[in-house]
Amino acid sequence: MANLANQLGKRFTDLLSSLSALGFDKNQIGHDYILDRETAALIAEEFGYSTEAQSQEILDEKYDVLPEKPDPSSLKPRAPIVTIMGHVDHGKTTILDFLRKLSVVAQEFGGITQHIGAFSVTTPLSKKQATFLDTPGHAAFLKMRQRGADVTDIVVLVVAADDLVKPQTIEAIKHCQKSQAHVIVAINKCDKPEANPQKVLGDLAAHGIYTESYGGDVQAVEVSGKTGLGMDRLEEAVVALAEILDLKASFKGQVQGHVIESQVKKGAGNVATVLILNGTLKTGAFLVAGSSWCKVRALKNEFGKIVKNAPPATPVEVYGWKELPEAGDTVLQVESESKAKLVVEYRVEKNKVQSQLEALDSINKSRVSQKQQAEKDARLRELLKHGLSADDLKKEEDLMSEVQEEVIEVPFIVKADVSGSCEAIKESIANIGNDEVKSAIIYDEVGSPTESDLDRAEAAGAHIVCFNVKVPKDIAFQATRRGVEIQEYTVIYYLIEDVIKTLSSKLKPKIETKITGEGEIRTVFSITNPKTKKKFKIAGTRVSNGVLERSNKVLVKRGDLIVFKGVMNGIKTGKEDASVVRKGSECGVHFKNWEDFEEGDVIEAYEEIEIPRYL
Ligand code: GDP
Repeated sequence: MANLANQLGKRFTDLLSSLSALGFDKNQIGHDYILDRETAALIAEEFGYSTEAQSQEILDEKYDVLPEKPDPSSLKPRAPIVTIMGHVDHGKTTILDFLRKLSVVAQEFGGITQHIGAFSVTTPLSKKQATFLDTPGHAAFLKMRQRGADVTDIVVLVVAADDLVKPQTIEAIKHCQKSQAHVIVAINKCDKPEANPQKVLGDLAAHGIYTESYGGDVQAVEVSGKTGLGMDRLEEAVVALAEILDLKASFKGQVQGHVIESQVKKGAGNVATVLILNGTLKTGAFLVAGSSWCKVRALKNEFGKIVKNAPPATPVEVYGWKELPEAGDTVLQVESESKAKLVVEYRVEKNKVQSQLEALDSINKSRVSQKQQAEKDARLRELLKHGLSADDLKKEEDLMSEVQEEVIEVPFIVKADVSGSCEAIKESIANIGNDEVKSAIIYDEVGSPTESDLDRAEAAGAHIVCFNVKVPKDIAFQATRRGVEIQEYTVIYYLIEDVIKTLSSKLKPKIETKITGEGEIRTVFSITNPKTKKKFKIAGTRVSNGVLERSNKVLVKRGDLIVFKGVMNGIKTGKEDASVVRKGSECGVHFKNWEDFEEGDVIEAYEEIEIPRYL
């Protein structure tokens, strides 16, 4: 700020006024505040200077690639994209496994499905296609939605027939309402004798999901992922709804899609599962996703079979990425290798500038808080200078407690089987916390924990959370020896619960005070320590309520004013040291580091009880 003021030949206060007009809080800005380029330019222009941006040539948006609008004449019906959601243990995985097995049977070449984040099924009766996503936690999809893209057309909401609507069912309902995805209810576990589908439907209606028997238009199908009961009807319900929704995509033109998972495969390099939304992807095409590009070397479907092309609504493994793209990244086709490289160069540079801006923001924030702290210190000094009074200690305490406490960051390292899980976990963990404690993911990677992870965790005091990956025995052994905590999970819900517990354990407990005794100071007398010959004052006190205990903390009040807050050095009854003095008895109280008491002051003895808090 001071530099800019100098260069413009203006006073610092003039610049502050224009910053204030731009919405800045001028009380927070000091001479050393760093302005970003845009703000500095705006101020300079206000003072009549013309500014010229010296941005690097590559930082021009024309180098990026944007999704092209599909040609309406090339739109054709496409398969629906379906996500299965619901509470933990209600049977999502079982239903997905059943559907996957059905799709294997339907393939003439047989084989088993690979986990690539999604798979397509051909429905048993109408022989139509539907694509099911099976990314855990669906947070990768939240990320896509934040970027304005929701790939899910239909949500199959699974509720167990022997249970009711549960927290994650409610979460799923909220997701559907927000994303405007269409819902089909699958009442699962209907093979169980205690199944009560009607009760589930009633509970769903109470939560705003009105199925046909409740006068709504949401289809509900009774199924069993275990025995296969009703699964054909569920698939048909999905394709019937898709027909009503009249889902269409362009099978020609620019390929557009989203990365739903990515991982480094041994011997194959960077591989990403891409869900195609428009266009037909073919080997040899050039793609860009995030800061990576790819000349498609090979395409494989969920059976691990090489395919020549992937039309809209199909998931396909794409081989040939230069870097590993992230789950949630938008995939767009470009015309050539040189264009792909240019787009990536532009995005890398843009990210760099973005992180510089973020770094600048954090420097400014720390300068603002230093400034606030300095102001508080000055205030405190000023008070002390104007003569100490008996309640200064309290004032000082109050002043100090006004100083904002720093947020405690609890570091985590995330290791997961695939990048989709990594993303899901990162997103879920990142949102846990409050203004006292929050989580910080310092590192995440696909794969089992390694020695480097232990080094990182030890250095940062981080917890390592593993999802669907094995912890090698020697790493587990070393972790115990080095005091690094590694936790393994196969269900995201439990992982999140444990993260919440870890963060809660860092919350300062709530302190409740309980008054245990009261006494009135009736006389003040001096005595001399026979050994040290030092004189000190004793408060001759009568206990009027409860008990005074030597170990208690005490407040001394003069009228309404608290004149002392601290502890006692000792209590005497006659010449004897006492540990407890009860109501009605008299005693001499010696306070630690305080002697300004007067006749008539009231001593309040109290205990502090710590009550744990939870997020
Ligand atoms: P998720 O957490 O929602 O993925 O639930 P899972 O698919 O892992 O299922 C949780 C438990 O319920 C497992 O023990 C399954 O075997 C069982 N389960 C799932 N579907 C059914 C079903 O239709 N009938 C019965 N009896 N058990 C089921």
